Amino acid sequence: MRLNSLMRIRSLRTRLILTAVGLLAIVLGLVFLAVYASTNFSAQRQAQRQLEIGSNVFSNLLEARARELTNATQILVADFGFRQAVATGDLATIRSALLNQVGRIGADQALFFDAKGVLRISTATVAGADKVEVQALQSLSDQAMITVIDNRPYLLVEAVVRAPVPVGQVAMAFALDTALANELQKITGLEIRFVSRRDQEVMSAFSTMPFAQQNMSMQEGTQQFADEIYLTIPITLLDQAPYSVVAQLASPLNEALASFDYLKRELMIITLIALLVSSLLAVRLSGSLARPVTLLALAAGRIGRGDYSGKVALPRTDELGMLATSIDEMRVGIAEREKLISYNALHDPLTGLPNVSVIRERLRSAIANAQAGVLAQCDLVSAELLINARGQDFMDAFIRQSVTRLVDHLPAHALLAWQPGVGFLLLLERGNLDQAVVDIDALLARLSEKMQVDDIKLSSQWVAGVVEWPLNGSDPHELLRQASIALADASPGADRVAVYQAQRDRAFQRRIQLARDIRYAPEYKELSVVFQPKLDLASGEVRQVEALMRWTHSELGPIGPDEFIVLAEQTGSIGMLTQWMMDAVVSQLRDWIDRGIGLQVAMNISARDLDDPLFPQRIEGLLLAQQISPAYLSMEVTESALMTDPERSIVSLRVLRELGIALAVDDYGTGYSSLAMLKSLPVQDLKIDKSFVLQLAEGSEDAVIVKSTIELAHNMGLKVVAEGVENLYSLNWLKERHCDVAQGYFISRPLAAIDLEKWLDDTRGTFGGSEGA
Ligand code: C2E
Ligand code: MG
Ligand code: MG
Repeated sequence: MRLNSLMRIRSLRTRLILTAVGLLAIVLGLVFLAVYASTNFSAQRQAQRQLEIGSNVFSNLLEARARELTNATQILVADFGFRQAVATGDLATIRSALLNQVGRIGADQALFFDAKGVLRISTATVAGADKVEVQALQSLSDQAMITVIDNRPYLLVEAVVRAPVPVGQVAMAFALDTALANELQKITGLEIRFVSRRDQEVMSAFSTMPFAQQNMSMQEGTQQFADEIYLTIPITLLDQAPYSVVAQLASPLNEALASFDYLKRELMIITLIALLVSSLLAVRLSGSLARPVTLLALAAGRIGRGDYSGKVALPRTDELGMLATSIDEMRVGIAEREKLISYNALHDPLTGLPNVSVIRERLRSAIANAQAGVLAQCDLVSAELLINARGQDFMDAFIRQSVTRLVDHLPAHALLAWQPGVGFLLLLERGNLDQAVVDIDALLARLSEKMQVDDIKLSSQWVAGVVEWPLNGSDPHELLRQASIALADASPGADRVAVYQAQRDRAFQRRIQLARDIRYAPEYKELSVVFQPKLDLASGEVRQVEALMRWTHSELGPIGPDEFIVLAEQTGSIGMLTQWMMDAVVSQLRDWIDRGIGLQVAMNISARDLDDPLFPQRIEGLLLAQQISPAYLSMEVTESALMTDPERSIVSLRVLRELGIALAVDDYGTGYSSLAMLKSLPVQDLKIDKSFVLQLAEGSEDAVIVKSTIELAHNMGLKVVAEGVENLYSLNWLKERHCDVAQGYFISRPLAAIDLEKWLDDTRGTFGGSEGA
């Protein structure tokens, strides 16, 4: 992948170089070609002109020579002695005169013809053997002819010898040979060749050129020989079939071209230098493009692999520099976001503490390193009540404040985490269980101290479930589950830290069994009612009892309502139990009324009953059917049930109240409600929770709370019931503080109806009354 991109960049670089250099090469090539073509063209034109001039000069020269020769020949034939020799037929004298004249004028041979036109003398041959053959003859001008004699071309001039009648004829022949060609070349500056043929076959050829150029074409145009290029033009001197004589003029092009050689060389050098320089520039430029691009590609690759170290920067201000800056901004941005994402993944946004994932991870690595320790889950008791009463924002503030309380007091090697819906998680990576329990208890004590949140001073109760590892397992999920099982065992007070024991899982099983079986309890007739007297402290009489449910499980024996009522509420069976209780209470009331026992019976109802809009109607129907006045019935609703959804419960409560059923707030003090909040509810009685009443010692915090609650409730027109009266001291204490009703084991435990009736008979008058005292 990386290699690929590098290769691509390299090919980009190659392409850049090739494009730049190639383009230049093409341009230079074209320039070179154009120059070459135009120099060639102008050289050719120059040669052409030279040829044209040369051929004119050549013709003029030939004619001039012919005239010259004619004049000289005229002088000879006009000579008296010569005429006489001709007239007398003195051949010897004629020959010597001719030879003399030939030597003087530089002719090649002289011919003499007698009056009959017979050739008598040829100076080219030995005397007496004057046998030459004139093969062709054609006039060139008025005085001159071109002839072929013995296969060789000649320029011929003639003159008639008169005495005074024509007595003979003299002809002077000048060979069209190399010597003449050389002479003409000197004047014209052209190469010259004379070629004579018979029937296309060359008979003779004379040339100024170093070799005969036998096979040079006679056509007009350019021809190449060896290294030389010629522009040639043929001038036909004689054309008499089968003989022909042609003078071929040739202008060597090389010479003309040579004048441009310097220019071409210069151009070539310039081209090469330009190519070299442009190649170097292209390499440099492409390097300066490709190198930073490579660097950026590598940097982007590093970022892609999650390596955000190393600033990405290029020391340049162009687009690549901008790109580098952008990539660097991207690098920083991604790094920050990734940090944030991983921080968020591992931290709780509310508290800023690590979350359960961190705990799991630390547990895993600690266990992998064969380390032992303790895991604790800490939870706020009745957290939902607090949320319902004060709202989520208040709860959040409360938790945040609780965190600040803890963080500076954590034991060594402790990791504190917060997981919404779970609570605090504490991982102690050293130390033994006993020490851990003590430490955690101290932390819970700190947490439970009164705290000012917003404008409220709040006391809270915290509990913790603790599990030891790796004693109980090595799977973090399993350990967390065990901690929460232990947590379910913990209860505010002395048992607020509960340690997980393997057997506790049995309790879990039991809960499941009970939740399942409670639905069949009415059907199997496993339920019963007991009644606990409520003592009117002013009169010393018992006019009210509280009906409490009992369940005897066929297998597990008696189950307390503290255990099964919560289960029934959680699993939706409570409506059915309430219905059973209503039937039981109403039929008991019918029985007592019939027998003249006038007791008001209080029954406990749960939040779920109030959710049911038909609940008040059913009660009313039942009372009507049995013709029982609603005044005989009262109902107790726990403070926490009321606070779960006060808006909703208030509707049912009003209807019940309108029916004439008395209502009481049960377990007051365990929720987070204030008396002011209860004021809006249609209740008449306030039952102070037994946890405040059980240990009423003078000056104790509980005593202060109970005393002030009684006073405040009275101010608001509420009657106060104290439950959990276990001793005489408490009873008297309450009586002195004008508590209205007392309930508790000291007065009586809850009793079956028949036992209650007996108890009532036995104890009549025993408790006395504050009225009489
Ligand atoms: P509660 O309504 O507050 O009932 C009073 C509880 O305190 C009863 O426990 C009673 O036996 C106990 N108690 C009374 N005097 C003393 C005392 O001096 N010392 C101590 N330590 N305890 C005392 P019980 O019968 O176990 O009932 C527990 C809770 O179960 C009740 O608390 C009530 O909330 C619920 N409950 C009982 N029967 C029903 C029912 O039929 N329907 C509903 N919804 N809840 C019921
Ligand atoms: Mg009650
Ligand atoms: Mg109670």
